[in-house]
Amino acid sequence: MTVQRTFSIIKPNAVKKNAIGAIYHRFESAGFSIIAAKMLHLTREQAEGFYAEHKGRPFFEGLVEFMTSGPIILQVLEGENAVQRHRDLMGATNPDNALAGTLRADYADSFTENAVHGSDSIESANREIAYFFAEDEICPR
Ligand code: UDP
Repeated sequence: MTVQRTFSIIKPNAVKKNAIGAIYHRFESAGFSIIAAKMLHLTREQAEGFYAEHKGRPFFEGLVEFMTSGPIILQVLEGENAVQRHRDLMGATNPDNALAGTLRADYADSFTENAVHGSDSIESANREIAYFFAEDEICPR
């Protein structure tokens, strides 16, 4: 097991339903340390850039609309095997397939409005962290 960093977003629908504290509690209870955090209301440009790999897919426009519909919370989580363990905590992308007890089973409203984002690899985590955080905004314990 190695200590890793991963990038997480609490998406607009979860912020709107006042679930920030509950989700932070789940991160910390699962053994993650929150080592960077900020709230942003994404511009269209920021959202399109973040999801650039999905440009042209049928859901892209709706995803950008949703991600710019209200504030989000961004964080860097640190912990053992953080990328995969955080994906497990989130559950499947489509909440219909998310296991009971996962964040998406508890907080998603639809496939698009699925409450949380988490990096899918160490390479994605490094890119996504750098997209939103400067080095001096990350505060390891
Ligand atoms: N998404 C969607 N419809 C789809 C696939 C994805 O609305 O058919 C949205 C959903 O919000 C998802 C995001 O696009 O979280 C990014 O998709 P990805 O396949 O990268 O899933 P993730 O890594 O977020 O689980």
